[in-house]
Formats: sequence, structure tokens, C-alpha cells
Amino acid sequence: MIEMLFRAIDGRVDELTSLTQDLIRFPTVNPPGEAYTPCAEYIGERLKAKGFAVEYVRGVGTPGDTDRYPRTNVIARFEGKQPGKTVHFNSHIDVVEAGAGWTVDPFEGVVKDGRVYGRGTCDMKGGLAASIIAAEVFIEQNPDFAGAIEISGTVDEESGGFGGVAYLASKGYFSAPRVDHVIIPEPLNKDRICLGHRGVWWAEIQTKGKIAHGSMPFLGDSAIRHMGALLDAFEEELFPALDKKQTVMPVVPEGARRSTLNLNSIHGGQTEDFRPGLPSPNVADACRLVIDRRFLLEEDLSDVKREITEILDRLKRDRPRFDYAIRDLMEVHPTMTERDAPVVKAVAEGIQAIFDREPQYVISPGTYDQKHIARIGHIHDCIAYGPGVLDLAHQPDEWVGIEDMVQSAKVMAVALERLLQGH
Ligand SMILES: [Zn+2]
Repeated sequence: MIEMLFRAIDGRVDELTSLTQDLIRFPTVNPPGEAYTPCAEYIGERLKAKGFAVEYVRGVGTPGDTDRYPRTNVIARFEGKQPGKTVHFNSHIDVVEAGAGWTVDPFEGVVKDGRVYGRGTCDMKGGLAASIIAAEVFIEQNPDFAGAIEISGTVDEESGGFGGVAYLASKGYFSAPRVDHVIIPEPLNKDRICLGHRGVWWAEIQTKGKIAHGSMPFLGDSAIRHMGALLDAFEEELFPALDKKQTVMPVVPEGARRSTLNLNSIHGGQTEDFRPGLPSPNVADACRLVIDRRFLLEEDLSDVKREITEILDRLKRDRPRFDYAIRDLMEVHPTMTERDAPVVKAVAEGIQAIFDREPQYVISPGTYDQKHIARIGHIHDCIAYGPGVLDLAHQPDEWVGIEDMVQSAKVMAVALERLLQGH
């Protein structure tokens, strides 16, 4: 049976390639969210012709949603002959801007040396195409299968997924009993299974001061100097402490196998916008710092926050005139699917069958749409698995290997066989 699936996929290499090219030719750049509707309709029409029931769901009122840039998602469902479990393949259709440095047209879908080049080939239209071919071949070969297969093309993953998976999850599209197992074909490499991601806390910290003439700073109070005191404390105690926090999560790359903090941006004092290079001669009465803290399964978000507010409170106690405000910007809890979860075992079997070795189990340093499926949809049988080299994502001359897509499609077909046919 498996051999038949593999042979059928091998017979569809040209189709898999041209499907990827077609998807690349929709410049679904986010922001602003260009060409979402035609791309979603292209996917929907193809799957409808194969017998899927197709729905379009617009993320009405979500960030960026306008009549000019509607957040159009597509969800297609193929119902088997008998009731059973549902396997859902979720891919985001948005891509980041092309940027500079390309040697080919990023939206032409150039095929060269066994690769398809273009923005979004690796992240993640190649994975979407592989899952479509895998599902279609499985359905052809198993006309009487029990259960259902869903394929979705969703928007805005690159900007947080609010108009895409988060919106759909809030409407029940990613919950039991509709869906049981979810595979997200993000480019984590064809022989690796991504079980989840670290947590995220973004916050804005403001230090306060008092404005005065720049020639007499002693009459004011510099918010920038107060922020400097905070950064000193971060250097002396926080960064070394974070470095020591190791995790059992198999995060890749290894450098991310600990707690991290990025200082995203800092701005203090008067704007330089209206007189470039010549700001007003004032003492800064405010300074704003945006932080990006990535945390581990072993950490509690309230402890993560307290670690920073304790430093701020101590400065407030000990440093004359120090005052601050802190505001949450974003919170995402870490998530890690168990290794013996059905979808993990099914994909692992596929990897074993194709590559003759155990998969590598990894955790992503950053987040992706799995967070919404876990938190809003309450589905924990979810992984990321797909073709493509993660490092190529968002780079110029992004590409996906055709053979990698073929092998991934085979792994996905084995997973379907295992999850829906039980063998
Ligand atoms: Zn992606």
C-alpha cells in the first residue's frame, strides 16, 4: 500500500513543482496582506475540483483587515466514506517582503537545478504544495478511508496570525470534534519534527524624568540616565542569570536552549524627525525600551515578569527620583507536544520509512501558529513538519528543493495512512 502511495507521488513531481510555482506567483506579501483572496481562491478551486468542500473565512476586523486587504482564509475538507479522525494540514499563505539581494524575480517561480526559487518557496508554499499532493494521492489510493482530511491556507502568520489561525480557532475550526491531528508544514527540514516553541513576553518599559534646558541638566532629571541604570542592572545580573537557565526542550539552534532577552528598541528624549541631527536642547523627560523575552517550559510567566519588576522596584527604592511604568505588549506561552502523541508517532514512522532513520525532534526558538491551535483550539496533537531549510526563510534567493518536497509529501502520506487507516 505504502509503495503504491510512493509511486503515485513520484508520478506527480511535475505537478508538485508547477503547483509550487503557481503559489509563488501570488505575491502574498505581509504587510500589507497583498493578493490573499486570489491565492486562497486558487487553492480552494483546485481542492474543490478534487471533491473537497471549500469555505472562505475572512478575519473580519482583525489587524490589517480592510476591503482593500481582506484577511481571506481558505479551509477545505474531504469527508471519508466512514466516520473517523480528522487530520488537518495548516499552511500560512502570507510571505514577508522580498527585500534586496535577489538574483531572480522573487515572484516568478523560477525552477533551476532541482529547486524552485522565490519568496515563500521555503516558508512555506513548498510545504503547502507537498501537503496538497500527499492528501490528493492518499484519497485516490484509499477511496474508502475513514475520517476526514482538511487543508487550510491561512493569513498573517508572519504578523502574529491574528487574522488567520487565531481567528479560525476562535470560531471552532481548530477544535475537537472537528479536528484531531494537526500538521503545520513549516520548513523545519524534511527529517525533523518540530514539537513546539518557547514562550514570548514583549513589554515596554518607560523611565520618567523632568524636562529642563540642556545647558543646565542639573535643573532637570534625565530619563535616559535612569534607563542607563536599568540597562546596567540587566548587564550585571539579568543577562548572566538568563544564560544559566537551561531547558529540557530540544530547541534549535542550541544557543536558544536557554532563556534569552533581546532589547528590541530604545528611544529617549525629543524626536529628531523634524530637524534631522538637531534635536531640541532639552533634558529627556521620558525614555522607552521595548524588550523581547523568550522563556522556557520550566519557567512561569509571572516569574519571568517578576524578575524584571523586582529590578525596577529596587531601583525605585535605591536610586533617587527613579520612576517607571511597564506595559505588556504580547504574551505567548511555550508549548511542546509529547513525543508519544499520535501525530508525532505517525510522522516519525514516515521519516523512518523514507530516510531509514529516527527523526530529530526539535523545538523552534520563535513561535508560529501552533500557539493558537494549542491555546485557543485546545488541540495538543499538533506539530510542525515540512520540507525546506529553515535558515533560508526570509532570505534573498529563497528556495525549496523539489526532491525535498517529494520526500516530505511521502512522509505526510505515510502519516495519513497511519492516522486514518491505522497501519
Ligand atoms: Zn512560516
